[in-house]
Amino acid sequence: MTHPTYAQLEDRVRHCTACELTGRGYALQRFKGNGKVLIVGEAPGKKEAETGVPFVGRSGKTLDMWLEYMGLREYTVTNIVKHRPPQNHTPTPSQVEACLPVLDREISQLMPSALILVGKTPVRILGIGYWRMKGDLLFGKSVAGILSYNGIPVFCLPHPAYLIRQGYEKKIPDYLKELLSLYAGRIKRL
Ligand code: SF4
Repeated sequence: MTHPTYAQLEDRVRHCTACELTGRGYALQRFKGNGKVLIVGEAPGKKEAETGVPFVGRSGKTLDMWLEYMGLREYTVTNIVKHRPPQNHTPTPSQVEACLPVLDREISQLMPSALILVGKTPVRILGIGYWRMKGDLLFGKSVAGILSYNGIPVFCLPHPAYLIRQGYEKKIPDYLKELLSLYAGRIKRL
């Protein structure tokens, strides 16, 4: 079952011509429950654009394993940029600028209690000052939940593709388990 606002979002994105990615494949949202935590990646890849669903490939399965470990019962997964950039390139600043109002609209419709940003790029794109930190600090306990976007607490996770390259496709390294548990505890209290 999709969120009641999904059809409005799809209509907006399907007809959007605000940047040169218009007309390419796109991915919107996927849900568990009513989506009180919003998980935000960068942009859809090939599989996502084919299916219209964010994080459905190998990275998506690994991400789901993490979310399950956190015990998150309700969440929505989305991307900052909705249409797929060619060759999976990082969205350009003008594409991001054109698409950010769509994400902001999603946020105001879903009213999430927390954002979980996946990978460093969304942290940079959303202008959260800490993105210059090394990954082990950004994805570490010291900044967990002290970052925010438009007043919503932000939590940062490394990109699953990075962990898959390290051999952690089907298991979670201990340091990440600790982080996921910490995030889960803090998000539960929001
Ligand atoms: S990527 Fe975003 S701004 Fe660009 S056409 Fe698609 S919905 Fe519009």
